[in-house]
Amino acid sequence: MSATDPRIAGWAGQILTAVDDSIAEGILPATVRSFTDLHDHCDANDFLIDAGVPYDGTEATIELTVAVQDAVTAALRAPGRPWCTHGTCRFPGHDHTTTQADDGTDLDTPAPMRCTDCGQPAHYDTRLGDYRHDNPAAPDCFLIHATRR
Ligand SMILES: [Zn+2]
Repeated sequence: MSATDPRIAGWAGQILTAVDDSIAEGILPATVRSFTDLHDHCDANDFLIDAGVPYDGTEATIELTVAVQDAVTAALRAPGRPWCTHGTCRFPGHDHTTTQADDGTDLDTPAPMRCTDCGQPAHYDTRLGDYRHDNPAAPDCFLIHATRR
């Protein structure tokens, strides 16, 4: 076994399918872009176990696990992978709306949240306790954290 084990791509593909299912079911947000992101929301090791990635504590299985995690992260970061936004998000821990207008007054009906700094679609992640741009590849703004709510 090595980091070029041909089974790695198969396991990573299986995990990607499981992640996509979890996103469709609202268990994970569509903003996950790495194995570390998965750990923010669930016990991501369950994905490895469910996919049948062998692990017995030996150097060889540790290397395999890391290689599968890297392959999953690479797939999650692939250009064109959709992210959630207002109207498409199924994740209950995301709030893609705001009741505050740009001038600071209250809106009668919640509107899609936009970053007050750069204007990109944004959301609040209740599990992370933080505001994020909907596009996970967009660099973080400072103002998005400081000015909403
Ligand atoms: Zn969302």
